[in-house]
Amino acid sequence: MSALPRIPIPREAKIWVAGHNGMVGGAIVRKLREIGCDNLVLRSSKELDLTDQRATFDFLQSEKPEYAFIAAAKVGGIWANSQAPAEFGWINLAIATNAIHGAHLAGVRKLLYLGSSCIYPRLAPQPIRESDLLTGALEPTNEAYAVAKIAGLRLCAWYRRQYGDDFIAAMPTNLFGPGDNFHPEKSHVLPALIRKFHEAKLSGAPEVIVWGSGRPLREFHYVDDLADGLVWLMEHYSGEEHRNIGTGEEVSIAQLAKMVAETVGYSGRIVFDPSKPDGTPRKLMDCSKIHAEGWHHRIGLREGLEKTYAWFLEQKESGLRGW
Ligand code: GDP
Repeated sequence: MSALPRIPIPREAKIWVAGHNGMVGGAIVRKLREIGCDNLVLRSSKELDLTDQRATFDFLQSEKPEYAFIAAAKVGGIWANSQAPAEFGWINLAIATNAIHGAHLAGVRKLLYLGSSCIYPRLAPQPIRESDLLTGALEPTNEAYAVAKIAGLRLCAWYRRQYGDDFIAAMPTNLFGPGDNFHPEKSHVLPALIRKFHEAKLSGAPEVIVWGSGRPLREFHYVDDLADGLVWLMEHYSGEEHRNIGTGEEVSIAQLAKMVAETVGYSGRIVFDPSKPDGTPRKLMDCSKIHAEGWHHRIGLREGLEKTYAWFLEQKESGLRGW
């Protein structure tokens, strides 16, 4: 496979970023502005309810964006997902069908829909390839979210097949960066550890407790680097199959904890708490297709951690966030 040719997004093109207040949507907006695309159409969920089909279709008909990034979704951790499967299911299905069919009716030139690596089969072989989608049973705790997201991904392929619409889909891995959730219990491991180590440094605590054995392996991708890849896909990739997009590199939770301690400047002990669950032993995406096609991540874990810690400190100072 050789590198794909670039078909640039015209800098004056009207671009809709759905979900611009979320971590991924926010990073897409920053990336588009950085490359000179300023004609952005942005609506908060209060201004435009994407589960409302009429409102979504009317919005698309009147704005007629040429490009669309669909980064809007109802997201939540394992607990929220297992408590409210009906909500996670219907809201994400409605967003997918309304945004994708509305974009088709409005003649959107190119659309990119965001999936998530947690929608692959629970026991997918590692690293997970694009072709592993829909080959096995899903993780039961987030089945509703996964089924809805899979529907969105497949809709893009079906609109291409039936109508020739240039709709594509991308599958990110575990993301972190500005806009992340740093809640002590409800967040994912990377922001949780930044917060724990930061607070331990301030209080002079002799040790920090890290959940589980420290052995599970995870891939982490800095969200602004993901946004670079998504714009790259928009300018280079057209095809029915979605694309995995990540770093293709993994670290153990123990290695991550050490890196976070170094970034934060914490020199106390790191103690593992094996009474807490490890979760899946390994979660890594195979990024060989997008690599062969010409995109590679540029911001690695250490640099991303530094940027994220700087952002975390800014938020703390400005006191704008509840955490
Ligand atoms: P996962 O990737 O879906 O398993 O989600 P998480 O990011 O929540 O957890 C990843 C791994 O980090 C698991 O093995 C957790 O036990 C471990 N971990 C260690 N300390 C923490 C913590 O403070 N918060 C979270 N969420 N996970 C932690």
